[in-house]
Amino acid sequence: MTKPAVFLDRDGTLIEERGYLDRLALLELFPWTADALRLLKRAGYTLVVVTNQSAIARGIIDEAILDQVHHEMSARLARGGATIDRYYHCPHLADAPIERYRQTCRCRKPGPGMIEQACRDLDLDPARPFMVGDRWLDVACGVGAGTRAIRVLTGHGAAEATTPPVNAKADVILDNLMEAAGWILRNSPR
Ligand SMILES: [Mg+2]
Ligand SMILES: [Zn+2]
Repeated sequence: MTKPAVFLDRDGTLIEERGYLDRLALLELFPWTADALRLLKRAGYTLVVVTNQSAIARGIIDEAILDQVHHEMSARLARGGATIDRYYHCPHLADAPIERYRQTCRCRKPGPGMIEQACRDLDLDPARPFMVGDRWLDVACGVGAGTRAIRVLTGHGAAEATTPPVNAKADVILDNLMEAAGWILRNSPR
């Protein structure tokens, strides 16, 4: 029995956009993030973060700092009764200054690699999942992986072009993650 899933961009979708988030002091959840995730979880969704972290390839942060940030995010969400099931990140960049991260990978969004990996690891239903993100590359990632795609206007969302690039048509554009959660619940198959 496979599980329904919501894939979530991190920066600008769950938390304030901070450019390269290189210290915990910059971490700030949106006021509605825990509530929105709790609603989705209660409806039975597995919640998976998929985040591009080229800051690792650029040598601005390392995996240990990233782990710390995600640990702290989960701790704060837990205080609001919310849980993230798994975090996936892409540390790569085609022209990375750090050699071991230098590759043209399938996981860097808009590539579908992180969603595909999560579906394998977590036995997720690839049929009708949702992707939520603030940028067109998030939408393109979802569309490429076969999800329905929601773009939110937090983070870079408001500054993104109003017309989608090719192959990145969002199912809907909404103000923020709380609105997205409501839309997902109204459009759930069950
Ligand atoms: Mg983002
Ligand atoms: Zn990658």
